[in-house]
Amino acid sequence: MYIRLWGVRGSIPTPMATEQYRHKLRKVLQRAHGQDLSDESKVDAFVEELPVTERLLVGGDTTCIEVSDGETCLVVDAGSGIRRLGLEMMKGGRYANYGGAVHLLFSHHHHDHTCGFPFFVPGFLPTSDIRLHGVHKGLEARMAGLQVGEYFPVPLEVMPSKKTYHQLTVDKPYRIGEFTITPTELNHPGDTYGYRFEWRDKVFVVASDTEFKNPDEETIEHFTAFFRDADYLYFDGQYTVQEAFVKEDWGHSSAMHGVDLSVRAGVKCLLVGHHDPAYDDETIVSIEEDAHMYRDLLYPDATLDVIAAIEGATFDLSE
Ligand SMILES: [Zn+2]
Ligand SMILES: [Zn+2]
Repeated sequence: MYIRLWGVRGSIPTPMATEQYRHKLRKVLQRAHGQDLSDESKVDAFVEELPVTERLLVGGDTTCIEVSDGETCLVVDAGSGIRRLGLEMMKGGRYANYGGAVHLLFSHHHHDHTCGFPFFVPGFLPTSDIRLHGVHKGLEARMAGLQVGEYFPVPLEVMPSKKTYHQLTVDKPYRIGEFTITPTELNHPGDTYGYRFEWRDKVFVVASDTEFKNPDEETIEHFTAFFRDADYLYFDGQYTVQEAFVKEDWGHSSAMHGVDLSVRAGVKCLLVGHHDPAYDDETIVSIEEDAHMYRDLLYPDATLDVIAAIEGATFDLSE
């Protein structure tokens, strides 16, 4: 199983602003002072050694996660990140194996999880076979509603790809290729669903967007089972703990909630994503550091790893 994060931002696409770029640039130039950067390989080595917030961008595209195995291509959500995925698919490469077939699974249909679909170039190819899956009723009408004339110039039916709609049942496992996929309901306005992917002996879980507000024991048990032994759990860590208290009922969570549940469920690596649009890269990395501190304080024996989700990150569970 191969995982690639094409969009990790929450709520709205968040391109980097000039002042953020200049802030990074200034730091890099300060670090470059006195370094030998006389040829390209030395520059590359210097760049590789930079701290993560100076070496790369956390990224501003909204939720889109690829889960594939070389035979089957699954995509969770069509946030703005799916635009780049579509462009990559157009180049062929490993995507040529799928013969144009893509399974698109929706957590829900808020703008940040759907706004990329009309910009998904394979959707405009008659040879593409796009299979849309979701627990919400009326998936086709929901998709068409995203592209009505008042809000978007190109209606869904003008996209010439073959599109089929597949109704899923909550908590009922189903099979696509070698994947067993189970949706479960999350706590977010307008109903949202997480997905557990099992492939051979590997497990990946996506649980975004969701809030854990004073969960009762039954809820904790349910999610512990849903996350059980996941190699990776992509979790909604939009807020700091302080904000999670202030923004009660906004439908999002914090990395610390993710740590509590992950330790209990035996998750190996927690990917904290759905980053708040207001957070710069340094804040997001500090959330990761706080989560490490929280884990070490509360669960000193835990082997759980915690990583801030970064656009373009890949995880290979094939071995
Ligand atoms: Zn969202
Ligand atoms: Zn939402």
